[in-house]
Formats: sequence, structure tokens, C-alpha cells
Amino acid sequence: MTTLRIAVIGADGIGPEVVEAGVRVLTALTERAPGLDLAFDRFPWGSDYYRAHGKMMPEDGLATLAPYHAILFGAVGDPSLPDDLTLWGLRLKICQGFDQFANVRPTRVLPGVIPPLRDCGPDDLDWVIVRENSEGEYAGHGGRAHRGHPEEVATETAIFTRAGVTRIMRYAFRIAASRPRKLLTIVTKSNAQRFGMVLWDEIGAEVAREFPDVTWDKMLVDAMTIRMVLKPQSLDTIVATNLHADILSDLAAALAGSIGIAPTANIDPTRRFPSMFEPIHGSAFDIAGKGIANPIATFWSAAMMLDHLGHPEASHRLMAAVERVTAAGPLTPDLGGTATTEEVTEAVCAAIRAGN
Ligand code: ATP
Ligand code: MG
Repeated sequence: MTTLRIAVIGADGIGPEVVEAGVRVLTALTERAPGLDLAFDRFPWGSDYYRAHGKMMPEDGLATLAPYHAILFGAVGDPSLPDDLTLWGLRLKICQGFDQFANVRPTRVLPGVIPPLRDCGPDDLDWVIVRENSEGEYAGHGGRAHRGHPEEVATETAIFTRAGVTRIMRYAFRIAASRPRKLLTIVTKSNAQRFGMVLWDEIGAEVAREFPDVTWDKMLVDAMTIRMVLKPQSLDTIVATNLHADILSDLAAALAGSIGIAPTANIDPTRRFPSMFEPIHGSAFDIAGKGIANPIATFWSAAMMLDHLGHPEASHRLMAAVERVTAAGPLTPDLGGTATTEEVTEAVCAAIRAGN
């Protein structure tokens, strides 16, 4: 049996609290799943590391992570440091360094969770949002001229490459094809943006021809927000640019009941490099250290990691345990309960042990 080596980076705020909870449920799972062997190595990188060493991670950090099978990540961001430094110094460095170009965000209403939309149960909202994670509006190209002067100009250039768009479209169509409804919605803004978004649309239509089984449509991002709220049942797999998917997936997380349950995976589908699994939420300093962070987003991310590593049964078992706990409690305050991170973690571990 291969030991799967997992690099664990808790980073900032509630990040370390939720990843430790994640390690605990994964450990409980290995005790129940004879074919699963995981070894965890923790890396103390992040904003505290920055304060001690002047950088968010060591110079050779990527080389250190490269041999791992996967990375379990917490959250990065510190109220006293600029995002530019913390985010780009750690999380985005890993995403870009390992070419994790597909960001996958499943969204479902878990049993027992009361979503903000009336009459929107588990059958009405079951989406996978695929976010382009390597270029687009967050390519980091642009600049400022005449800083501080009345004539100051700042540009922020979105970069769309044929190769970059083609690979994310293929990835999204493949996910859509693997799901029962075989339905993909391509989000765009080509009515107002005349170059990048037009290329995006054209390549979407080209790639669609490779997937005759998938029914697809195209939706302007503004209209998409309305459809997500008013007709959640009409959507299944969704592909959008870096910026659009960033915004839509926060909306999706809220519609599913809480940001505290929303998971994400940063995938290198070529598998040359480790992929990274993390909750969508940030470092949430308002609740850090209080022991009340919801660990479920991290558990779900860990389940995605097991799937990616070729252990769909263990992944399923973990999600079944999570759903037993969301249905019956205990729940953290963001889901209307009064339980601590510890109590929810222990309940999920107990559900894993009780399952078969
Ligand atoms: P970032 O810029 O890193 O996204 P943010 O401040 O915009 O950070 P979060 O850190 O995700 O966003 O926090 C947004 C709100 O959601 C906060 O009120 C926070 O307490 C709450 N929140 C985030 N994650 C959790 C969680 N796991 N459990 C409970 N509440 C959470
Ligand atoms: Mg945020």
C-alpha cells in the first residue's frame, strides 16, 4: 500500500484550527479504511512566519512541496499585512508554481442545513463551479502612471490565452460529462468585453464539439446571478473566468447555507504537481482562537482530496459522516448551532467510526 504524503499548511487565523480538525477526521478515516494510508507533514508558513523570517514561505518552499501527493491548506490573510503580500506570497505562489489551473467548487445544500432561499432543498441546488485559476482578470498585468496626480491612470489587463481557455473548457466539459445531468453553463461577458471574452466564447463552442453528450448554454455573468437565485435547479456544472467565478462562488456558498461549509480544490489535472485542497473561506480573524470555526468546509475539501488521490470510497465515507452530523448536529454558530470546532470534529470522527 502506498503511503500518500500530505503537506499540511494551516497558515493564518482559523486556518490552523480547521486543518488540524481535517487531519483528525482523515486519521479516523484511515483507521476504518484498510487501503488508505496517509502521512502528514506540517509547514508553519504564513503571516507569523513572515513576521519572523521576512517571507511567507522559504525560498525553496515549492521544491519542498513538490514531492507530496497533495496539499491540505487552511487560509491566508492577516489584517495587519497587505493581501498583496500574504496572498501572493503563499497561496497564489503555490497555485501558480504548480500550475493548478482548475479551481473546482462543488456546492450543495447538505442535509439539515437551512439555506436562505425558501423551498431550496438538496435536490434543487447541486452545482460544480469550475474557475479558471491561472490567468484572466487576475493575471497580475497592469500598472499605474502619474501616481497621485490628477491625470493618474491605472490599468488591469485581463489575459486570455487560447491554451489557457482551451484547457479549462475541456476540464469543465469533462466534469459536466461525468455528472448525471451532463449540463454545462459557460459564463461570459462578451456583450461588453470585446476581446478576451469573445475568445472565451469561441473556444467554449469549439470544445463543446468534442463533447456531444453534454448539453451546454452560455450566460452573461449579470444574468447568471439572477438565475442562481431564482432557478437554481436549472444549473449543474458552471465554468467561469477567474474573476467571475470568484464572485459567483461566494454567492453559491451563501445560497448553500454558509461559507463555513464551502470547499475548493486547486487542481493540476496533468498531475505533474501536487494539487491543493482548502476551504473557500478566509482566515476569519473575527472568530480566530475562539474555537468556533466551522471545520466542515475543510472536511469536504479533504474528501475532494481523497477523490483526487484515487480513494473515492473513503471520500464517500467521509462525506456520509459529515452529512450525518449536519443532519443531526452538533453544529457551529454559523449554521445556527452552539457547538465548537472540537465538538463537530469529534462528532464526525464518531460518525466515521460508527459507519462501515
Ligand atoms: P478573505 O479576504 O481571506 O476572503 P474575509 O474576511 O473576506 O477574508 P472570511 O475570512 O472568509 O472572509 O470571513 C467572512 C465571514 O465569514 C466572517 O464573518 C467569518 O467569521 C465568517 N466565516 C468564515 N469562515 C468561517 C468558518 N469556517 N466558520 C464560521 N464562520 C466563518
Ligand atoms: Mg473574502
